[in-house]
Amino acid sequence: MAINPNLTTDRATFVTHLECSMTGERYEADQLHGLSRVGRPLLVRYELDTIKAAITRALLEARPTDMWRWRELLPVRHTDNVVSLGEIETPLVPIPAAGGINCWVKDEGRLPTGSFKARGLVMAVSMAKELGVKRIAMPTNGNAGAALAAYASRCGIETIVFCPDDTPEINVREIALQGARVYRVNGLIDDCGAIVGKGAAEGRWFDFSTLKEPYRIEGKKTMGLELAAQFGWKLPDAIFYPTGGGTGLIGMWKAFDELEKLGWIGPRRPKMFAVQASGCAPIVKAFNDGVEHADRWEGAHTIASGIRVPRAVGDFLILRAVRESGGIAMAVDDALIEQAVVDCARQDGLLLCPEGGATLAAYRAALKDGLVSSDDKVVLFNCATGLKYPMPEANDAIDKDGPIDFDAL
Ligand SMILES: *Cc1c(COP(=O)(O)O)cnc(C)c1O
Repeated sequence: MAINPNLTTDRATFVTHLECSMTGERYEADQLHGLSRVGRPLLVRYELDTIKAAITRALLEARPTDMWRWRELLPVRHTDNVVSLGEIETPLVPIPAAGGINCWVKDEGRLPTGSFKARGLVMAVSMAKELGVKRIAMPTNGNAGAALAAYASRCGIETIVFCPDDTPEINVREIALQGARVYRVNGLIDDCGAIVGKGAAEGRWFDFSTLKEPYRIEGKKTMGLELAAQFGWKLPDAIFYPTGGGTGLIGMWKAFDELEKLGWIGPRRPKMFAVQASGCAPIVKAFNDGVEHADRWEGAHTIASGIRVPRAVGDFLILRAVRESGGIAMAVDDALIEQAVVDCARQDGLLLCPEGGATLAAYRAALKDGLVSSDDKVVLFNCATGLKYPMPEANDAIDKDGPIDFDAL
């Protein structure tokens, strides 16, 4: 049985070229690229008219529901280069008690390596394999490094990973166990990124930092494609996305645009809410200041380590998508994040990661402030399994040899 039935034939892909997200300058496909000449992310462009003629919604719906059903809208040319660990479509889980009747959690914790970083890294590593890369380095707050290590080890690419020294212990260990060389750095993710950049400039490795290679975004884009299909080709009214580097938010926005050009959805878009933690909210500040780029956030701190990103190279793309959508960027306190995680676990039986908790906390605040109504259909992104994060202690014990007070249990 193939791990992935959508990959049993070498279907065509339709990439035409890559394009600088800032200047629109064109770059050749099928060559190794990092950032554009002006130091900004490159976006992959497709022959959408040809895709429109080649496949229909009905044809797509007849395929198994995993990530590779979107094959024609993805960049990998040859099926053999796809380094799959089984990238399933993630469910939309209702959380009626903690979130209300029009609130669904897109539970990305079910993906390989327990986070949605798998979507981006399966694509980026498959492309690295296709383009002959042998050695990759990456800065990470944990989950991206774990996904990189898993996929790269699977296809024999060497990886070196740098993470802040207070990255959750389980992340550092899973990265090491999955075959990367991992180093703890006494700084934040952008300090780790500087080390990766220096080594890349010396030709030691290929730089896999967020948005510094073009293909992670294409993997993350599948979240938007899935949402469209899951909602019957009518998008939800609002999306709450925990925003670090913003890859997923930018990717979904790109997906919606491509789907509209295919004629599969109309022009209506969800309001995009970029959710950050109060202790690290550079995008929120830039949004409120009405500017296009965000300053580095000094002294960044939050329990939601996945969104502890003081500086994002795609800041202007995040801000543009949020503004065009009519949404906002908003920050939530760690205490409210913790409360949201507890409420969702106790009342709905769904264990969120802290970043997922942040989206629930933000949704609650947005409801209170009238930014969304309880009639709006809302999707919250839970981007990793809650099992990877520290949980409150549970120390009650029983002495099997002593008297047991059954009434007190
Ligand atoms: C990486 C990560 C995020 C942020 O994702 P971006 O697309 O980089 O903004 C949010 N939550 C978790 C759990 C993550 O690992």
